[in-house]
Amino acid sequence: MTQAATPSPPNLAGLTRAELQRALVEAGVASTERARMRAGQVWRWIHHYGVTDFARMSDVAKETRAAMAERFVLVRPQIAERQESRDGVIKWLIRFAPGVEAETVFIPDVARSGALCVSSQVGCTLNCAFCHTGTQGLVRNLTAAEIVAQVQVARDDLGEWPTSNENRRLSNVVFMGMGEPLYNLDNVAQALDVISDNEGIAISRRKITVSTSGVVPQMRALGERTGAMLAVSLHATRDELRDALVPINRRYPLAELMAAVRAYPGLSNARRVTFEYVMLKGVNDSPADARALLKLIAGIPAKINLIPFNPWPAAPYECSAPEAIEAFAAILKRAGYASPIRRPRGRDILAACGQLKSESEKLRASARRRLTSPAA
Ligand code: SAH
Ligand code: SF4
Repeated sequence: MTQAATPSPPNLAGLTRAELQRALVEAGVASTERARMRAGQVWRWIHHYGVTDFARMSDVAKETRAAMAERFVLVRPQIAERQESRDGVIKWLIRFAPGVEAETVFIPDVARSGALCVSSQVGCTLNCAFCHTGTQGLVRNLTAAEIVAQVQVARDDLGEWPTSNENRRLSNVVFMGMGEPLYNLDNVAQALDVISDNEGIAISRRKITVSTSGVVPQMRALGERTGAMLAVSLHATRDELRDALVPINRRYPLAELMAAVRAYPGLSNARRVTFEYVMLKGVNDSPADARALLKLIAGIPAKINLIPFNPWPAAPYECSAPEAIEAFAAILKRAGYASPIRRPRGRDILAACGQLKSESEKLRASARRRLTSPAA
């Protein structure tokens, strides 16, 4: 006879405010009338001070703290591996459950600020030809709590609790790690609510960027539900080439993608879309390609990010020559786009864009289809 495993107590660390309130009431830790106030207190301890020990919640009555400790936990996922590169990039391989691992990367800026690159899925269903994650297949979507946990783990490591408004090292969050965020929009939106909350981690929505390979039907919802900044992985200006590089283009070709970008809620000169463009030698890096790019995005408030291709073992492409990238960038600069080249960081620990891949095993294809058929 098999014995049922004892279920582990719920983890409060990644819940939204509403979920936290509900959990406290359901566990009998707070009355319905006081739930809002109590959840507010606990929220500050979790998300402003980063505590993982109920005993430290000094303005919460002792009995309440004990009651919470009996019914709940406040835990971080396991860090399976931590690497720091020569240029200060830190990469964590986080184990959410056995066989469910994803990578999170901190990229310090030159000033006292930096971006955390978070994963939204373990693996990816899409298989862009130049992307290491794409070779892995999808293991599963990350939950909102698991996305929030990536920010918490990074702040633990960087010593950034309690939240301060000045001199933050982790000042921005970009959804440019593993996975396609718009195939996991519910959880991404919920995680964004948590990390942007003013009484918590308080990273403003304008400092959070979500990158998509072009899941057109979800783009408006992303803007409406999250107010996040949009980045689009363009990489090609002709359907024929984009079909080969970013296969989702066969479903949502360039004309539809560009229309969705133009309609992105809140797009303005102060809130520009970022077009990412990976520089692949002899594939998409000629001066004619640069001019075609300018033509395609004309009139859209935009920034351009040229990403030198980051090689990974057995990758089928090469990075463009530095002169080709410079010449491409010069054409964009002349048209008024400032500093378009993204300096590759953390290459020595395979932490750069598109290099993330875990050894997690993928789900069966049928389960994968169930998980990722977009709601729309
Ligand atoms: N799935 C989303 C977000 C994650 S990928 C997306 O595709 O937009 C983040 C960025 O890295 C994307 O622009 C992606 O196209 C790019 N990228 C993927 N592999 C790369 C590689 N090997 N070198 C450089 N950029 C890469
Ligand atoms: Fe997935 Fe983005 Fe990689 Fe394409 S580039 S395979 S969408 S993670």
